[in-house]
Amino acid sequence: MRGYRRPRHYTPPTALGNQAYVLDTTALLAGLQLSLPRSYTTTEAVEEVRDHVNREKVRLAITIGRLETVNPEPRSVKEAMKAAQKIGEQASLSKTDISIAALALDLSRKGLKPVVVTDDYSLQNLLTHLGVEFKPLRTRGIQKPRRYKLVCPACGYRARGNETYCPRCGSKLKRIPV
Ligand SMILES: [Zn+2]
Repeated sequence: MRGYRRPRHYTPPTALGNQAYVLDTTALLAGLQLSLPRSYTTTEAVEEVRDHVNREKVRLAITIGRLETVNPEPRSVKEAMKAAQKIGEQASLSKTDISIAALALDLSRKGLKPVVVTDDYSLQNLLTHLGVEFKPLRTRGIQKPRRYKLVCPACGYRARGNETYCPRCGSKLKRIPV
C-alpha cells in the first residue's frame, strides 16, 4: 500500500482498515479466500486442502493476489506453543492450528489487526488467551476463555510439556478444566 493515496471522497466497498483475515483449513474449504479482498494463511493449512476443486480455489486466490501464504516466524510458533501449554490445549491443537495462531502473532507485530476465521474451539481458546480476535464460520464460537490441565486418568500424572500420552503408564492424557 506504500505510495498509494486514497482519493478524497472515496469510500471502499469493504472497509477493512488494518484488519488482516487469517484463514484456517475450514475457512479455505469454505472458499473464503475468494470472497475476501485479501487474506492470509499458512503452508500447513494449504497442504490440508487435498481435493482438486478446493485446491484450485486456493491456487486461484493466490494467483489473483487475494490470498497470501506465509510461514510464521519461529519465535511466533514458540510463543503460540508456550501459550497452548499454559492453558492445557497443547494436545488438542494440531501443528496447523499452532501455525495459524503464530501467523496472527506475526501480523500483529507488523501493526496489523489479525482476525482468525476458524470453527475450532481449542484454537479459538488459544487465540483468546493470546489476545487475538477470531470469527467463527458456522458455530457460535467460544463465549469465554477456558483453561485446562492435562492429566492422566489412570495414574494422575500431570503433563508439563507437549506430551499426549502418560510417560508413566502410557494412557492417553485427558483435559480437565481448572
Ligand atoms: Zn498415567
